[in-house]
Amino acid sequence: MKSLWNDAEASQYSGDLGERVYTSQLLGRDHTLVLHGGGNTSVKVRSRGVTGEEEDILYVKGSGWDLETIREEGFAPVRLPHLVKLAKLESLSDPQMMNELSTQVTRAGAPAPSVETILHAILPYKYVDHTHADAVLAVTNTANGQSHVREIFGDDVVVIPYIMPGFDLAGLCAARFAADARPGTVGMVLMNHGVFSFGATARESYERMIALVTRAERFLERRGAPRAVSGEPGRVTAAPRELAALRREISAAAGVPLVMRTQASAKFIDFARRADAAALSQQGPATPDHVIRTKRVPMIGRDVAVYAQAYRDYFARNAAAAKQPKTMLDPAPRMVLDPELGLCTLGRTARDARIVADLYSHTIDVILASTALGGYKALPEKDIFDVEYWDLEQAKLRRAGKPPVFTGEVALVTGAASGIGRACCDAFLKRGAAVVGLDIDAGVVNAFGGRADFLGLHCDVTSRDAVNVALHAGVGAFGGLDMLVLNAGVFPGGCRVESLADEEWQRVTRVNVDANLALMRECHPLLELAPNGGRVVVIGSKNVPAPGPGAAAYSASKAALTQLARVAALEWGAAGIRVNVVHPNAVFDTGLWTRDVLASRAAHYGLSVEAYKTNNVLKTEVRSADVAELTAEMCGPLFAKTTGAQVPIDGGNDRVI
Ligand SMILES: [Zn+2]
Repeated sequence: MKSLWNDAEASQYSGDLGERVYTSQLLGRDHTLVLHGGGNTSVKVRSRGVTGEEEDILYVKGSGWDLETIREEGFAPVRLPHLVKLAKLESLSDPQMMNELSTQVTRAGAPAPSVETILHAILPYKYVDHTHADAVLAVTNTANGQSHVREIFGDDVVVIPYIMPGFDLAGLCAARFAADARPGTVGMVLMNHGVFSFGATARESYERMIALVTRAERFLERRGAPRAVSGEPGRVTAAPRELAALRREISAAAGVPLVMRTQASAKFIDFARRADAAALSQQGPATPDHVIRTKRVPMIGRDVAVYAQAYRDYFARNAAAAKQPKTMLDPAPRMVLDPELGLCTLGRTARDARIVADLYSHTIDVILASTALGGYKALPEKDIFDVEYWDLEQAKLRRAGKPPVFTGEVALVTGAASGIGRACCDAFLKRGAAVVGLDIDAGVVNAFGGRADFLGLHCDVTSRDAVNVALHAGVGAFGGLDMLVLNAGVFPGGCRVESLADEEWQRVTRVNVDANLALMRECHPLLELAPNGGRVVVIGSKNVPAPGPGAAAYSASKAALTQLARVAALEWGAAGIRVNVVHPNAVFDTGLWTRDVLASRAAHYGLSVEAYKTNNVLKTEVRSADVAELTAEMCGPLFAKTTGAQVPIDGGNDRVI
């Protein structure tokens, strides 16, 4: 493992806390050290408050912050002397501990201090770094973990047997540290949990972490442990319907729709195909805090009912022994290991599903590395249960509130790179959906930056092959399809009927009608499997109820599309799929309407641009975002009992009314 310390970079950070930020980010950059909110760091500083008194403050990572991206405000300043007093108490319940921590924070609006705050406080060093390094876990999660740790580190570290994070862990560390620390002690290894390093400067503590983990890595190498390989990305070859059926069944067990990400890379397929895949994977996570996202074990194969029953049994067994009554979480798996599919991971959002995949990819690395030391050995299920059903986690769930309306659902939008299509993507993302955006403009790929819940695909919707490839990719990324927005279309220039060429008529029909028929046909098997029922919204046009001269091909094609949608509403209603149409008019904030075009059309009617834009009954401008909001709402509960409807969004048109 290489130190990422860089003098030029480091010089951009100043002060004790600034340096703390820098080396925390360095730890976060190496995903074999910490992942997604894992690990924590701290620094002890003496500072002067507004009344002029000096205080010792522990700045410790706040919950909800990731080391990789942490900034100064991500650290909670906590009064250090009080923490030291707390550490001396005989016992302290978790809610009491969290109360003490939050009431000793000296900055309003600071994040909640890490649950490992007291542990940071009792270590007598200015800087303290804590990671869940893969290499250390691979060593500790074995039958002879303690003796391996001794062999690697000698007396340079204090070794702490596994105990749940929180007050008791801090107490145990305080006692062990007092008894076992030597002048040369540079760290602390927590069995089945992770590693601490410390130092007088940010750099010293960081470099010690790198050195400690490197020693574990070298040891594994000497024992012939395999090198970790990347799990990304692997082409998903499974039929979209097969994946959507699996997602539907798992979502039903969860009681809410879940996004499902499939990674068919060799890493996961090879692991799933090992003869000992069940024995290895059913032991439990590499470090207990993964359980909150991953559940204790993956499902092997696809029998959701058997997995859910095993989960209920696990809950019943362990809840009976727990001190407080527990509320069972849903029994659905968050990971599926399948010899054909590879690894499928699930979460309420695309980001959650991706995090689960990252965690399990590293877990596989740990499992395979431990096999070189005689075999992977996870903690007993009781310890995992204690973290999964920790009061603090359960309280967090109770506080979480209602997620956005389309959380866990997947929308596909055509013509997504600009105008109404792009606005639709925005509206669905805002409502919590994962969105697949298709467009013939390659700009769609990066239309929403690198966010996990948007997949932009360069796709000509008139090509059956391209649509097929896009559906494979979309379902591979998010697991299925719940909502379909048919927006892509062409709007040809004015042309009277007597001059309308066959080729032009056919070109318009091919995009506006044929492509949408094909999309509806191909998406129907997926919409049928939507956990909450499929929904389709067709972007029609005012030209359907009120056609315009010179727009024969456009008006006729949108009318045909509308009729197609109405028949689909009739045919698909029994399967719970709703199909509705919106008819926008005069939406000018799209790529089509440049400033010049707008000015010339307005002049053509003898109107100012402003008057032209608001030339409707309500004298209001209709924007892409207005159409998108209506479109999204038509997929939501407000329109749950509406299908086959056509809703104008045109500011009121006297020919339509
Ligand atoms: Zn930890």
